[in-house]
Order: sequence, then C-alpha cells, then structure tokens
Amino acid sequence: MTFVVYNSLSKTKEPFRSLEPGVVRMYNCGPTVYNRPHVGNYRAFLFADTLRRWLEYCGFRVEQVMNITDVGHLTDDADDGEDKLEKQARKEKLDPWQISRKVAEQFFADLRALGVRPAKVYPKASEHIPEMVEIIEGLIAKGHAYAVGGDVYFDVKSFPSYGKLSGNRVEDLEAGSRIAVREEKRNPEDFALWKSDPAHIMKWATRFGPDGFPGWHIECSAMARKHLGDRLDIHTGGEDNIFPHHECEIAQSESFTGKPFATYWMHSKFLQVDGGKMSKSLGNVYTLDDIAAKGYTPRQLRFALIRGHYRAPLNFTWEAMKDAASSLENLDDLVARLRRAAKGDGAASAPNAGSELVEAARTEFEKHLNDDLNVAPALAPLFGLRAHALSGAFGVEAAGRALAFLTRANEVLGVIEIEEQLLDAKIDALIQERQAARRSKDFLRADEIRKLLESQGIVLEDSPKGVIWRRKSGA
Ligand code: AMP
Ligand code: ZN
Repeated sequence: MTFVVYNSLSKTKEPFRSLEPGVVRMYNCGPTVYNRPHVGNYRAFLFADTLRRWLEYCGFRVEQVMNITDVGHLTDDADDGEDKLEKQARKEKLDPWQISRKVAEQFFADLRALGVRPAKVYPKASEHIPEMVEIIEGLIAKGHAYAVGGDVYFDVKSFPSYGKLSGNRVEDLEAGSRIAVREEKRNPEDFALWKSDPAHIMKWATRFGPDGFPGWHIECSAMARKHLGDRLDIHTGGEDNIFPHHECEIAQSESFTGKPFATYWMHSKFLQVDGGKMSKSLGNVYTLDDIAAKGYTPRQLRFALIRGHYRAPLNFTWEAMKDAASSLENLDDLVARLRRAAKGDGAASAPNAGSELVEAARTEFEKHLNDDLNVAPALAPLFGLRAHALSGAFGVEAAGRALAFLTRANEVLGVIEIEEQLLDAKIDALIQERQAARRSKDFLRADEIRKLLESQGIVLEDSPKGVIWRRKSGA
C-alpha cells in the first residue's frame, strides 16, 4: 500500500515518493523562541513527529530538521513590526540572547516530555547568517533581489510562479495589501531578505551594511539548504505559515537553486479555543505546566493532540483532555489484558484464536495512516481489539501477536505505556524465580534476584497473598 499525502502545493492527495529511495528529507518550521511554546504550537510539532514516525514505520530513514527562530520574526509576520525576541527582551529586561537560550531549553524539555523523537538537528537562525548572506548575494547576482540602503528585497515579479502555494496573485496582493507600501520597494509586495536597523540588538555587519538582520523567510531557506540540500521531500508548518512564510521560501530557494524546493508541502490546522486560534497574542494559551496543574500528563496531552486529523481544526477543551485520558487508559488496559492472556490467564483455549482479528486490525490501522495520516480512524481497530480482549477472544499465541502489533503501532503513536508493561512482566518473572529459588533453598540466587530488583528501585513485601512489589518513589 502506498502512503498518500495531501500536498498543499497541488491541493490534491498524491502518492508519496521520496527523491532518494528509502530516505526522506523533511524540514519542519519550528518555534520562535520568545515565549514558551503553547499546546497549539505542539499540535504542529506533534504532527511532524507523527509523520516522521509513520514514515519510519513504512521503512524510510527520515532526515528531519526543525529550526529554531531566534531572530528576525517580526510581530506582523511580514516586513513591519518589532522583532518578537527583542520585544520580549525589553519586557523581561533581559537580552534577547538570554531569552532565546532560556526558551529553547524549555522547548527541548517539553519535546522530551511529549515523547517526540529528536530531529537530526535543531538549527538556530542566528547561527546561519553566512548561509543566508550567500543566498541573498546569489539572488542579487541573478536579478531576483535588490539592495536599497541597507535593506535587500526579493523582487516578486522576477519569480512568475509567486503565489503557487497560497493561491495569492501578485495583482490581488497589490490591491488589498497587508504589506505596508514602502517607497524603496520596486513592487509593494516585495519582501525583505535583509533589513538594516542600528537600534536592533541582534545584528550583523555584512556587505549590505553595518547593522543588519535577516528576514524570517530567508532563514528557513538557508537552514533547509545547509542541513538537507537544495531539494526537500517534505516541508511542514502550521496553516498560518502558508503565506507569506512558505510562499516566500519557495520564491527564494527556487530562484537561487533553479530547482524545485520541496516536493510535498504539508500544513496542520490550528488548535482552537472556543472556535478561535490559540495564540500568545490572544492570551488564550496553555503550556505544559497548565496541563500538569489540571492533573494531566504530557502523554495524555500528546494523545489528545494527535488523535484528530491534522487537517481538521481541533478544539482544545478540558472535556477533550478527560476523554483522551480515559481512552488512553483503555489502551493501557488492552496491553495489560493481552499480557495476561499471553501467559494463559484469561486466554481462549486454541492458542491461535483471534489471530485473524489482529491481522484485520493491522490492515485497518495501516490503511488509514496511509491515507494522509488519518489517525482518528486508524485508532478504531485498536479499541476494537480491546472489546475482543474483554470477551477473552485471544489465545496465548494470538495475544502475543496482538502485543507485537500494538508495540509496533505505538512506534507511530508514542502514547501507550508498553515498555512499562513489559518491564512489569519481567519483574513478575523474576519474583517467581526468586520464590522458586527460596523453595529449593537456593538462597544465593534468591538474594541475587532481590539485589537486582533493589538496584532497579523495586521493593518487595511479603503479604498474606504472596510477595507484592512496588517501585520506590523516584525510581
Ligand atoms: P511560531 O512559534 O509562532 O513561529 O509557531 C511555531 C509553529 O506553531 C508554526 O508552525 C505555527 O504555524 C504553529 N502554530 C501556532 N499557533 C498554533 C495553533 N494555535 N495551533 C496549531 N499550530 C499553531
Ligand atoms: Zn520556517
């Protein structure tokens, strides 16, 4: 079966083919690190993670790059407004470098808590100035960009397919432009590649002038090229990135290299609150701390954010969090039941009973993920397996097979506590071995096992029902 993806560029679903067989080069627009990312941002990043995990499930090696925007992202997303980092720095009376370091660290901690697989590299814009300057100079040399004073603009009329991603036509943009008209621009919709501002704190001396800083869009073109090459398989971002950000990236990269930039553009829809966007500027954001304060774990949040289709808007409510938590409990319970059945406890008498149910669930799971990463219906067969497990449909072998399938499915979902469960099984087995050793008066072995368990933070207690164990707090 082929993986089919909705490509924002063609506005259709297309079969996925990588440029190089077996390898996927993927660039994800990452956070602007002026403030701790909120759960809306994490919807976009978890979409990228799920996509990467699915591609890995399909056998690809994924070269994933997610950037950190630490300079040049202005408050209006275009050429005007304040640098988000410098604005925040003034507010907090810190320097912008301190802010970006602090927030980036927080971001990485959040990613770890959410179980996100690490990208190959998280490049910072401020560390790629020479790569940006190289592209800007190349664009000037090819007649796609021009310098005025210390600023450099991209001439949108030099790139006839400008607008191919967003559907915006230059003429329409001219009519009702949200881009402020500046005297020095050749066309009102030309966008800045480089800006000069002596008052800017994060600034670099280049041949364009002594105090300049990059435009937001050129950063991603340069970081993608540096870490993945001229051409990408997939480029992702939230829906608000389509215009101007990604439209401008395409114009810059394709004009510079003369090659198509990304084959597939994939955009996730917003996480909403009461029907509107969750955004820092609207003040309706939640962070992972807010989620924890309500008693929910990052794993439960991960599930709540990935279980809807990435191209459908998702409303954030505490009711939805509660629902995600209880659905997840059912999946954990399924694993626990299958583990017992695999040991014969509550299993059907024929060892292979229920095997066909496992195969059907796998087919269904893969079919839906192959359909543009449609997570919601892909989960249904997992809950279906639980219904069968409740009625004792699985034999010993089929239960083992179901566990193997769930372990694999969880490689994509990253939410079920399978490792913990398997670890528990190992602990149970060791305890039984210790009991047997004691019965046969092999106290050396019994002691060895007790010490081994102790070293893993497992405390044993004798009870009237036999030995019970618990994890030492903090273990
Ligand atoms: P920013 O930190 O503003 O550069 O945004 C980082 C990423 O989060 C971008 O891909 C945005 O499109 C995405 N994003 C921002 N707000 C939301 C939201 N409410 N829901 C989903 N994605 C969002
Ligand atoms: Zn970007």
